[in-house]
Amino acid sequence: MPLKMIVTIKQVPDTQNISGDVMNPDGTVKRSALPAIPNPEDLNALEEAIKIKETRGGAIIAVTMGPPNAVKVLKECLYRGADEVILLSDRRFAGADTLATSYVLKCAVEKISDFDIILCGRQAIDGDTAQVGPQLAEKLKINQLTNILEVIEINDKSITVKRSIGNGYEIVKSKFPVLLTITSQANEPRSPSAKRVMAYKNIDQKMGDDSYDETYMISENLAGNIKEWNVESIDADIALCGLSGSPTKVKKVESVVLTVSDAKQIPNTETGIADLIHELTTQHIIG
Ligand SMILES: Cc1cc2nc3c(=O)[nH]c(=O)nc-3n(C[C@H](O)[C@H](O)[C@H](O)COP(=O)(O)OP(=O)(O)OC[C@H]3O[C@@H](n4cnc5c(N)ncnc54)[C@H](O)[C@@H]3O)c2cc1C
Repeated sequence: MPLKMIVTIKQVPDTQNISGDVMNPDGTVKRSALPAIPNPEDLNALEEAIKIKETRGGAIIAVTMGPPNAVKVLKECLYRGADEVILLSDRRFAGADTLATSYVLKCAVEKISDFDIILCGRQAIDGDTAQVGPQLAEKLKINQLTNILEVIEINDKSITVKRSIGNGYEIVKSKFPVLLTITSQANEPRSPSAKRVMAYKNIDQKMGDDSYDETYMISENLAGNIKEWNVESIDADIALCGLSGSPTKVKKVESVVLTVSDAKQIPNTETGIADLIHELTTQHIIG
């Protein structure tokens, strides 16, 4: 049985290659100073979907919520193996915390409908909460299998996976529909295929423009496999979108730069380690 799969992909600032001045005076990330990349574990999620499609057939729809230039990560998905991509873009989605993000994704998934598997990355490298996948499954009232190390078996009715539980793993099985969050250990994402890059090279002109103008927002079906959806397209309640739908208020962001004076020698004794654990727990760094 061919499977209908949805991959959620986030465009993130490349926080792993920070050079020069990338912080705003208020401590927020100067997103324009950092190259925007597909969230690494979302490429693992896409790779897992492509491997499933290669063995069972089916279709892959990649979805991102972001500003118009997030179309760049969708093109990456087309170049690697997605069949269709959807850009969820609307000024009213901006400033979303994980709750508002998962709400918009839920509305989009319900519009796509009849899916078998949703594949998310385990975590985004900027927000780092790992909350969106589980929240999305909760809102869709479907099973979720998180922190996946390996997809062991798939048949017409169910999927069996190996998932990390921190200091070990467990083997879990679920029927469809199901949401998976994929870790970087699960696979090695393939590179974009030259054949697909050539096939999609003409979609550049209109997309990638940063301004929010209505004519841009509504245009659908560029090259037949790119859709753009806004609040109205997914029938979303704007009170649950963006800043208005986000209970998380980031009070202050400060960059923590550790200096040598912060370093402390821990005696390699029972008491030394016990004191360290006590200090880390009282400071809520662990535990
Ligand atoms: C420094 C920083 C700290 C933040 N702290 C918080 C916080 O404490 N609480 C909070 O609610 N929000 C927080 N946010 C906002 C949060 O980043 C956004 O809500 C974001 O859209 C989703 O959360 P995340 O980045 O943690 O993603 P995660 O939950 O780590 O993402 C997991 C997976 O969900 C999917 N996904 C996530 N975002 C999208 C998207 N826009 N489009 C498509 N798929 C997506 C991807 O597959 C991704 O791998 C923070 C943002 C920053 C930059």
